[in-house]
Amino acid sequence: MSSLHEIHNFYCFMIHIILFGPPGCGKGTQAKIISNKFGFIHLSTGMIFRNHIKRKTNLGKLASYYINKGALVPDRITTNMLNTEIQKHFKAKGIIYDGYPRTKNQIFSLEKVLKKFCLGKINIIFYFFISKKMIINRLLKRGETSNRNDDIDIITVQRRIKEYDKETSLIWKNHKCKNNIVKLNASLSVDKISIFIEKKILNLLY
Ligand code: ADP
Repeated sequence: MSSLHEIHNFYCFMIHIILFGPPGCGKGTQAKIISNKFGFIHLSTGMIFRNHIKRKTNLGKLASYYINKGALVPDRITTNMLNTEIQKHFKAKGIIYDGYPRTKNQIFSLEKVLKKFCLGKINIIFYFFISKKMIINRLLKRGETSNRNDDIDIITVQRRIKEYDKETSLIWKNHKCKNNIVKLNASLSVDKISIFIEKKILNLLY
């Protein structure tokens, strides 16, 4: 190693992968497959919230108010929670973020925490595209079996999609990570999508 910069990179090599897209686009399914395959940590803010709700923590009580009406949980709550989770995984090879960031503030907060603890940077963002009709069908179907309040009725589902369009869909616009975005057709089969994602990750690793 010849320079301080290289030494720094050597110690910082943790990969950060973001799965981005509307509710019901398949981020969670892919995050599970890919994290198992590569031994990465899977962080789903939705899952962490639901876990808090199940355990009836204060955070869970607070978050359920927003989640049940299909709104985003306020940034301060979400970023604090996510930062706490990241700090449990300093030794991870990589982290897959599923459902985070969802606002520009959350992007800044993620970049800040990665920098603060010298954990590397956002390496790649998979941007899932899919028609509204298809996600509504998928979410309502999932609601029949998942016991998720926010998937059961069409009004909440539609509110979440609206929230995505309004608050989330454009957050990468004008961001320096724009070039790390890989678009993906989320109406393809689970297998086809995971093979596609795997190839892109392998390219990053080797
Ligand atoms: P989906 O992507 O199907 O909506 P999630 O499990 O990702 O499911 O999210 C469920 C709910 O949890 C969201 O509708 C929102 O209320 C809350 N939530 C999850 N992630 C975030 C986030 N990054 N910022 C704010 N709220 C979030």
